[in-house]
Amino acid sequence: MNCYERLGVDRHATKEEIKAAYQRLVLRHHPDKQGRDQDETFQSIQNAWEILRDEQSRRALDVDLRVFEQQQILPIFAEIDLDEMSYNEETMEYRLDCRCHGEGYLITEKQLEQGIDRAACGTCSLLIRINYEEAEDQEPLST
Ligand SMILES: [Zn+2]
Repeated sequence: MNCYERLGVDRHATKEEIKAAYQRLVLRHHPDKQGRDQDETFQSIQNAWEILRDEQSRRALDVDLRVFEQQQILPIFAEIDLDEMSYNEETMEYRLDCRCHGEGYLITEKQLEQGIDRAACGTCSLLIRINYEEAEDQEPLST
């Protein structure tokens, strides 16, 4: 679910419309009213608002979403699980080698949080779909 969907607003919504939607949702999902199990929903509403209220981060999100939409029409070369990718803690990116031995597939943790589940190889443009649990259903990682 991307930030717009999370707040239930149109991609072209004005800042005022987004703010109104955010305030409505906050009232409904505030942890004080709903108990602990609503905390994550509240948190994701909060995160979506933080991104969309800021023009720069909203623009960056729009770019990511456009890339994502373009990828929707391309054929998927392979489906893989997120844990098959290697994680770089410094850059917060997941990476997977491509059979072309080029740049390989790359997806950032932020993109995953935004609901993006596809990555294209930087060299040959093959596309993979990454299967992962949405943050909301995620169980604590056993290390
Ligand atoms: Zn490749």
